[in-house]
Amino acid sequence: PHHQIVQQPSSSALATTPSSTLLLPPVHDDGLQYIVDRSKNTTYLKGRFLGKGGFARVHELTDLTTGHVYAGKIIPKSRITKPHHKEKIAREIELHRNLVHLNVVRFYHCFEDSENVYIILENCSKKSLVHVMKHRKTLTEPEVRFYLRQLADGLRYVHGARIVHRDLKLGNMFLSENMTVKIGDFGLAARLHAESKVTICGTPNYIAPEVLSRQGHGYEADLWAMGCIMYAMLVGQPPFETSTLAETYSRIAHNMYVIPQWVSRPARSLIRQLLAPDPAHRPTLDQVLKHDFFTSGFMPVSLPPSCCSKAPTFA
Ligand code: ADP
Repeated sequence: PHHQIVQQPSSSALATTPSSTLLLPPVHDDGLQYIVDRSKNTTYLKGRFLGKGGFARVHELTDLTTGHVYAGKIIPKSRITKPHHKEKIAREIELHRNLVHLNVVRFYHCFEDSENVYIILENCSKKSLVHVMKHRKTLTEPEVRFYLRQLADGLRYVHGARIVHRDLKLGNMFLSENMTVKIGDFGLAARLHAESKVTICGTPNYIAPEVLSRQGHGYEADLWAMGCIMYAMLVGQPPFETSTLAETYSRIAHNMYVIPQWVSRPARSLIRQLLAPDPAHRPTLDQVLKHDFFTSGFMPVSLPPSCCSKAPTFA
């Protein structure tokens, strides 16, 4: 459909109405930056800067033919210098591109030009749970239930596709305009084959003990991370945080953490199950969702965006 609009022939030489100029291919003298996907004949207007990661800078990109706003991950080819950088990006694209679920950041498309690789993603306008935690310090149990249920739903889908995320953390739990959790950043993810043990790459924040002791990553490592996330949301800091990486790793290896007494009994019980040192003892996602923490407390149907900065009062 956009072809028609972009290539719309002018019926007269004076056909430069504002709407048709907006839809014309890029002009470079108006101070705005355009990105053209030649494979689809689509032009995006580069907008607000949203954040930066390892290689990428992420901007709002507006598709000029539909007006739809995406989050565009822009990776300069000049930064892809080593073969393993290229492999990492290729793997992220390969694993993420076919995932379609309400609680997973939607991957729409990717393309490249001479300068960059572009990944067109669902825009998560409420940023991530890191931003929420910065304002809030701790969350109420109903909120934690609300966010974790969606994390569990999305993760069940991802695991069903035989993919381990391997870097779940508050910053990779993005939030859409209406406060729906979207799992994102598949940069450290891996596809699990029957008996594969995949080795460490990167430094995931919530690294599980079996990964540290080099026994490899299974789906259970994502449940460990979910335990760390749950702890952090309720307590306001990660369970194994110390001032040095070595000390943190030592605490993880010895399963040394303390849950404050003011955390409810069901919440403490679920955290302990998720943080079981032996991966085989951790619950499955179905068991997580059947735990008392989810079944015995209030579960909001939705949360207002005001929850990003102040605690809700549940009537
Ligand atoms: P990297 O994989 O290189 O670490 P990320 O995927 O973490 O890059 O993205 C970097 C930053 O860009 C994020 O921390 C976030 O602020 C922003 N961002 C990434 N994806 C989205 C998105 N889908 N919607 C909104 N902002 C995003």
